[in-house]
Amino acid sequence: MAGRPRRAEPQRRNRIVDFKDKVAIVTGGGNGIGRAACLGFAGRGAKVVVVDRDSDAAHAVAAEIGSAAIAHPADVTRTADVQGYVARALDAFGRIDCFHNNAGIEGRVMPTAEYDEDVYDAIMAVNVKGVFLGLRHVLPVMIRQGKGAIVNTASTAGIIGTPGMPAYCASKHAVIGLTKVAAGEVGPQGVRVNAVCPGPIATRMIEDLERQISPNNPGGVTERYTAGLPLRRYGTAEEVANVVLFLCSDLAGNVTGAQYVVDGGRTAAPTGGV
Ligand code: NAD
Repeated sequence: MAGRPRRAEPQRRNRIVDFKDKVAIVTGGGNGIGRAACLGFAGRGAKVVVVDRDSDAAHAVAAEIGSAAIAHPADVTRTADVQGYVARALDAFGRIDCFHNNAGIEGRVMPTAEYDEDVYDAIMAVNVKGVFLGLRHVLPVMIRQGKGAIVNTASTAGIIGTPGMPAYCASKHAVIGLTKVAAGEVGPQGVRVNAVCPGPIATRMIEDLERQISPNNPGGVTERYTAGLPLRRYGTAEEVANVVLFLCSDLAGNVTGAQYVVDGGRTAAPTGGV
């Protein structure tokens, strides 16, 4: 049954997942899902490197956390920047236990037949090359350590087609491919690599998309979209971060190469019933 979007239940604090003495890097950590992951890691005892190309946002999140965090402004599409955040984590904290390879952009909503090539290239650069470079430079550290856990942020658009978002969709399918390959390669060295696949989540990204689709009535897009979700609401950044934390923790010790949807049931039952 369609209806008004529902709100998430308030989160209760959960300390079952413990990251005491662990070090986490989160890319895109200045906003949305990455910010929630930074706060979640730190709230459970980890030291956190907040990586974002938005320097102010990275510093604001690090300041919110306090002495357990450092901000590291960087663009994930540049090799030198990626090497820079890996070196910074090692210099500051000596190891990398958890890596949330999360920075991403949504680009424009346009059908494939009209899609802008420059937008396509920009999305691929951040969402695919950025994730690849993160893996390329963090994996050797974790292999040396003989332990580590990585979560790449994909999307339900990495599992099903999303008309109007060809580049985003292709990029997120690629993230799942990179995840599976890396998991197969580094499992024997004790490193796990998984993907989280959010459905629509209430962050700046979905607000931007709604404004693109309906500049005069973005709330109407929310109502239409949530009516097709079994849970009838957008997820929250914290709800995605909770799954990231689980996947990075020893509770998920036998989980690798997996894709975890956090999507209010979108991919399981998109119409929400008859
Ligand atoms: P957001 O826009 O709130 O945050 C993204 C952050 O990434 C921003 O702080 C931005 O500055 C940073 N960033 C972008 N490009 C960067 C680059 N080249 N280098 C470094 N930092 C960069 O968005 P969000 O919703 O939190 O998205 C986080 C991830 O979740 C993305 O990979 C996105 O594709 C994915 N995702 C989001 C949704 C959703 O509905 N919000 C759904 C599925 C997947």
